[in-house]
Amino acid sequence: MNKEEEYKIALSQFLACKSDQVFLYWKGRVALYAALKAMGIGKGDEVILPAFTCVVVPNAILYLGATPVYVDVDRKSLNTNLERIKSVVTERTKCILIQNTFGLSSEVDEIAAYGKERGIFTIEDCTHGFGGTYHGKPNGSRSDCSFYSSQWNKPFSTGVGGILLVNNRELLNEIQNVNTSLLHPGLKSRFMLRILIFLYKYLITDRTYWFLVKFYRLLSKVGLVIGSSSNDEITSTKMPADFFMAGSEVQAKEGVKALEKLNLLLDQRKRNAEMYTAFLKQHGKYHVDEALNKDHSFLKYPFLVKDREAFMLKAEKASIRLGEWFVSPLHPVETNFEAWGLITANFPNAVELSAHMLNLPTETKNPEKIIKFLMDNLEDLG
Ligand SMILES: *Cc1c(COP(=O)(O)O)cnc(C)c1O
Repeated sequence: MNKEEEYKIALSQFLACKSDQVFLYWKGRVALYAALKAMGIGKGDEVILPAFTCVVVPNAILYLGATPVYVDVDRKSLNTNLERIKSVVTERTKCILIQNTFGLSSEVDEIAAYGKERGIFTIEDCTHGFGGTYHGKPNGSRSDCSFYSSQWNKPFSTGVGGILLVNNRELLNEIQNVNTSLLHPGLKSRFMLRILIFLYKYLITDRTYWFLVKFYRLLSKVGLVIGSSSNDEITSTKMPADFFMAGSEVQAKEGVKALEKLNLLLDQRKRNAEMYTAFLKQHGKYHVDEALNKDHSFLKYPFLVKDREAFMLKAEKASIRLGEWFVSPLHPVETNFEAWGLITANFPNAVELSAHMLNLPTETKNPEKIIKFLMDNLEDLG
């Protein structure tokens, strides 16, 4: 059996599906694009998505000539809800994206059922939620298709990587058709990927984190490494020439290894998150509602600060690895949202959250250090 088959089997055990429902891509965004394309989505069609996401999500919609229709998110769930979604559905709506932001899900059953009833496809964006469950079933089990990411910042890492789960078997043929036009990563890409995996594993520590994050961004800006996003993807809505890329054996090999350790990691994330919740709640600060966090996989722990920039500087000084999802309604874009069809004034919650939200690391072996840092800066928290 080749590595990719082995990887698909390991993935299907986590996702409680058959391995023939699993497809591998270079990145998560590519998996999303393949799913939309297989659904026949194109010019004139509308796709509903949250206004608190990564810009690569509307990009995949725009690459097909379809129109992204944004919905504001709730402050607590960090997701959309059925009522808001219903208010923007038209006869041109072909698909609804259900995101599990930071791994948090809400109203997934209701939205998926509504889609079925109205003949609208649903896709779950589980890029934050691999390994987590919702109402007892793995994240991504309810919609027609779901996609996952194994980029270095996501639930498990293969450097970069994307996974598509096809729950609606009627789409399987079409996915296979679409995949016939996949490009295959060349030697240089696979070599760069190995270096990225090495960097991630051995060089990122509390001490080097901020330096490496900045260095890595700089290099990817000038096109020297496989960044999370190329400059093209952040400044335009045109599909890069090498976008539709398959996964490789580098990712499959790394993925198989990473999945063997994932359960331990999930336990650690949950334990740390419980400590953060207890601390933030005790001090009357924004925290993840216990009602929402039962099944949650806590990729990162979202919290609010009064002044984002000032707080980031303090964290850097204290060698605390904070994350900055999402810096805007369309992370990491900071200007010209109209190019993606988003008018920020219509999404007050997303704008407010992205101005004040940061996230705490949940993989740390030393949560006490983080909590002490929060304690020392309590008045800066929202
Ligand atoms: C990271 C991310 C993606 C894209 O995943 P890639 O593997 O980087 O393409 C999509 N949606 C959200 C919400 C993400 O955070």
